Amino acid sequence: MSAEIIVIGAGHNGLTAAGLLAKAGKRVLVLEQAEVAGGVGAGAEFHPGYRGTGLLHDTTAVRKAVIEELSLHSHGLSLRGSEPPVFSPALEGKGVLVSSGREELPDDHGLSDWDVEYTAAFREFLGRVGAALSPVLNAPPPDVFATGVGDLLSMLKTGLSLRKLGRTDLLEFLRMGPMCIADVLNEWFESPILKAQMAAPAVRGSFTGPWSPGTALFLLLQTASKEHAGVQGGPAGLTAALLSAAKANGAEVRTGSRVQQILVSRGRATGVSLTTGETFGAETILSTCDPKQTILKFISKLDIPLAFRNDIRNVRMRGTTAKMWLALNGPLEFSSRPGRTFERIRIGEELDDLERSFDGAKYGALPQVPHLDIWVPSVSDPTLAPSGHHVASLLVHFVPYHLEGGWNDGARTKLEENVLSTLGRYVPDLKKKIVAKETLTPVDLEARYGLTEGHVDQGEPALDQLLFMRPCQSCSHYATPVERLYLGGSGSHPGGGMTCAPGRFAARAILGKK
Ligand SMILES: Cc1cc2nc3c(=O)[nH]c(=O)nc-3n(C[C@H](O)[C@H](O)[C@H](O)COP(=O)(O)OP(=O)(O)OC[C@H]3O[C@@H](n4cnc5c(N)ncnc54)[C@H](O)[C@@H]3O)c2cc1C
Repeated sequence: MSAEIIVIGAGHNGLTAAGLLAKAGKRVLVLEQAEVAGGVGAGAEFHPGYRGTGLLHDTTAVRKAVIEELSLHSHGLSLRGSEPPVFSPALEGKGVLVSSGREELPDDHGLSDWDVEYTAAFREFLGRVGAALSPVLNAPPPDVFATGVGDLLSMLKTGLSLRKLGRTDLLEFLRMGPMCIADVLNEWFESPILKAQMAAPAVRGSFTGPWSPGTALFLLLQTASKEHAGVQGGPAGLTAALLSAAKANGAEVRTGSRVQQILVSRGRATGVSLTTGETFGAETILSTCDPKQTILKFISKLDIPLAFRNDIRNVRMRGTTAKMWLALNGPLEFSSRPGRTFERIRIGEELDDLERSFDGAKYGALPQVPHLDIWVPSVSDPTLAPSGHHVASLLVHFVPYHLEGGWNDGARTKLEENVLSTLGRYVPDLKKKIVAKETLTPVDLEARYGLTEGHVDQGEPALDQLLFMRPCQSCSHYATPVERLYLGGSGSHPGGGMTCAPGRFAARAILGKK
């Protein structure tokens, strides 16, 4: 069997690319190893009666351009009106409740007057910088070696959009970018717990702690990525709409089809073979699996230029995130705010809590008091659990893939104990409420989703792994040195997160559009 274009992987980037390519009239076949489409954004029942909504929480960066180009609203997608505030409980006192988007602070925020004033000022600053950086994240990376008028103009436009910041903001942006997020937050705020809450997105998925240089830039980039208040139904809501759009445009999506090899003849990709032995020919292959899996596992080493192979081998992707689902027989009730129910929660009382966990991860140790990012999607969608019950999605940060002594049942049990005792300090009746749980260590993420080293972003978001260096310079514009083979997962610019952007840019590169 043959197709014009084969897309490997039906995660949100693969589905985006497939939809756009099919809409442009191409015959597209998507091959997905799992039994359901959606990748790490697929919804699934993890215990009878309790459904998850995908592994991650944030859908505020899904590109509006993709929503429009694929008419996702007519495929069931709807956007939230506002982002839920994030609650960080404290062992002493009431903790803080802070809006994560552009919403007003809730009345019971728990912040000092100083922090209220500076939270507003910091948000406005982030908003202005975000608007200036947004063109960089909404276009393919600049080609620094380009001599064509179009490329030079696009670089000029990016430079001009930064100049529009004005002298004060531009200088502050240039000063802040290389700083560590801890120093920046210490300059702006008083409350240790607020600082810990705000630092978390800057160090998510990267092999860094809040005292690592350059982490401030990641907070700026995350803010620049936000386009709205998120998708109703979270990642699962998005991937369901993308699947429907891809099929409606004519793409064929085959689940339960695990690719074993990309076939290459005289330097040109010609098709793929599955683990079942079935083969498919194609004029073009787009892989949305991570770069290491695609280049080092799917292709015979004799078919790849040595320098390119070495570049890909050097991409750093040390996973540090684990996932836990909890099925609960009631809401999570925090002793610092009894009787209240929260949708978004972060556990971590000061910057050094995060740093200590990162220190351990560097040397292969489990975090004793893990930093937890929690979403309880059943607060806004009660259909996810039986009546009165809830599902809680926990992202457990600073859990090393390269665990000293290796991952085994004992290590998994220890991780679960550390997570539940950390959360239990704030939710006294937690253990009584747990009906069931499911834990995915970084090693499980690799086995289930094909994420090399369990890395959540298909490559660390590091200063040298961004823009025209993502995943490496020779394939940063989606085409690879293997003719007619493209990359378009979150290992490519603009990187990880639920954005649909790498898939869109890869599809445009295949279609010859900028
Ligand atoms: C636990 C976790 C937490 C995260 N937390 C956040 C967060 O808080 N904020 C944020 O912005 N981002 C987060 N992310 C990152 C974000 O989810 C990813 O960057 C993004 O979803 C990747 O989408 P993708 O389409 O590029 O890849 P994927 O969704 O990984 O899709 C790749 C697809 O390829 C399939 N595949 C793999 N191997 C094969 C094969 N051999 N043959 C056929 N198919 C194959 C996989 O099954 C999968 O469906 C998190 C990710 C994880 C895993």
